[in-house]
Amino acid sequence: MRLQVLGGYGGESSGCRMTCLLINGSVALDAGSLSQALTIEQQVDVHSILLTHSHMDHTNSLPFFIENVYGKSDRPIDIHASEATVYAIRKYLFNNATWPDFTRLPNHLLPAVRFVEFQSETPLSIDGVTFTPIPVDHLVPTHGFLIEQDGAAILWSSDTGPTQRFWEVANRTPNLKAVCIDTSFDNSLQQIADVSFHLTPQTLEAELRKLKRKVPVLLHHLKPPCIEKIHEEVRRLGNPDIGFLEQGREYRF
Ligand SMILES: [Zn+2]
Ligand SMILES: [Zn+2]
Repeated sequence: MRLQVLGGYGGESSGCRMTCLLINGSVALDAGSLSQALTIEQQVDVHSILLTHSHMDHTNSLPFFIENVYGKSDRPIDIHASEATVYAIRKYLFNNATWPDFTRLPNHLLPAVRFVEFQSETPLSIDGVTFTPIPVDHLVPTHGFLIEQDGAAILWSSDTGPTQRFWEVANRTPNLKAVCIDTSFDNSLQQIADVSFHLTPQTLEAELRKLKRKVPVLLHHLKPPCIEKIHEEVRRLGNPDIGFLEQGREYRF
């Protein structure tokens, strides 16, 4: 499995793109930076997008990505998401006021975009990769994903505060190669992290006590103003299994 980190951050600034992973060049997890990170030719190869939740740092490139690839494929773009996320995207993004409703363009029979609803913990298979949505704890209904191909599994949290099911899945998956988990704010912003359902290095440390096995733990979704402090606070944890999911890097599992 080839995993490219197109956007590794929970906000945007020079050098920081918003949350977006690309699996095997064709399936995107979240759409925070599809149009910013890929050429038009590379964007045309992306035919499926799985959304973890409706927040803008995970969806903001959808309008421009869809415009870039419009008419360049004979099949619609599949956007896989939960019922709550589909509802929010339809109501607040593709509502013709914010952006045209591409599920009805050029017409509703041959649309440019198609929503496909997924259910918690029901695996879906795309191009030989299995994605299982795992509910996590965030401000709005949100899923992380267990991503599996050829005997390798990666567990990716998306946005979450302290959570339970995610760690149960990590502990019961024998071929787990890495866990990717939210660490959005530094410890001085604990109160903001708590009310917005994100982790800091100190709540990450408590969360990792729920992980009963030794696998690399890759942190993602850092808020750009917090990057330096988070790195320092994580270094002080002294846990050699913890690293950072690096934007621009390609991982193979
Ligand atoms: Zn986010
Ligand atoms: Zn969010």
